Amino acid sequence: MVHGKMSASGHEQVTHFVDDETGLEAIVAIHDTTLGPSLGGTRLLPYESHDAALRDVMRLSRAMTYKAAAADLDLGGGKAVIRADPTEKTEDLMAAYGRMIDRLGGYYITSVDVNTGVADMDVIAGETDHVVGTSAGLGDPSPITSRGVFEGLRACVEATYGTPDVDGLSVVVQGVGKVGSGLAELLDEHGAEVAVSDIDEEATAALAREYGFETVAPSAVYEQPCDVFAPCAIGGVVNDETVPQLECDIVAGGANNILDERAHAQALRDRDILYAPDYVLNAGGLITVAAEHTGDTREQALADAMAIGDRTRTLIERADAEDVTILEAADRYALERIEAARAEATSPSSR
Ligand code: NAD
Repeated sequence: MVHGKMSASGHEQVTHFVDDETGLEAIVAIHDTTLGPSLGGTRLLPYESHDAALRDVMRLSRAMTYKAAAADLDLGGGKAVIRADPTEKTEDLMAAYGRMIDRLGGYYITSVDVNTGVADMDVIAGETDHVVGTSAGLGDPSPITSRGVFEGLRACVEATYGTPDVDGLSVVVQGVGKVGSGLAELLDEHGAEVAVSDIDEEATAALAREYGFETVAPSAVYEQPCDVFAPCAIGGVVNDETVPQLECDIVAGGANNILDERAHAQALRDRDILYAPDYVLNAGGLITVAAEHTGDTREQALADAMAIGDRTRTLIERADAEDVTILEAADRYALERIEAARAEATSPSSR
């Protein structure tokens, strides 16, 4: 069964690990290593079935291939899931997992994701070198992610209004956690009229007190008139129900999987709403952990994340020239990088 799914989705390797002693059940999916070793976080969730965990890891690992390739990183796409209750996570479990990562010989490098953090990466680092996001590394990537999203957002603003200046523009930020709050602060610093929305009322109230931001109820966020809607909370927020509700010119945010389905990129385009792919804008996190892997500094990672602005500009121009969505233009760019590397690797001169 796994093999059928692999050939359909182009995965190179999917490994199911079980350790009876600790109760570990994990799946590592390596989607593509043409550009380099696969890098992606380990998500720990109480998946209701093995199949549900497998579906998630297959989807997530494929997305990492595109994110790394579009960010001009020499990395492939991979991801791992541990099927466990987060409240039952133990050091022994994470150590057993680290030993299993080690057996993959560096084709997969792990990092933090939902329900795994720096402390877990430290435990894994006791068993393998193929881990980033440890306490000895470059620290929380979120501020760099926020900066990359901000630069990408400015490129969208330029394509829409003729100048990248956000001064006076109204921006609604959905989700003011690590990425969203950083983005809101940058927007405020550059003169935008920021409104914030979050299911955590204390989080929005604190920002309203500190910066004077308007707050928007989570249920009213899609209909809130604004120039830019910046989703920075959860996935699937642009869907059949919300596309007709949106009262903005641009959707540009840091959340993963903003679109419920790929077709919603075209649905936004049909409404003349510019949508910049989330995986292009939020690549700052991956850029930071990749820098940790290659031994680069945090300053270099920040500089690379700033380049997300120019990359977004180029993709918007390409989408216009080829009359496709910016998502399609980004996917094409990523695939071209992978195909060029594959051709280079198999050319007689490279042997
Ligand atoms: P976080 O947990 O710090 O913040 C998420 C915020 O969203 C929280 O304040 C939460 O209360 C809020 N939220 C949750 N559901 C909501 C809803 N339905 N409506 C409004 N608000 C809601 O997470 P984060 O690290 O800021 O990540 C945010 C998003 O960005 C995620 O999709 C994540 O995958 C993505 N991302 C993060 C990074 C990074 O470096 N942290 C990198 C790439 C992508």
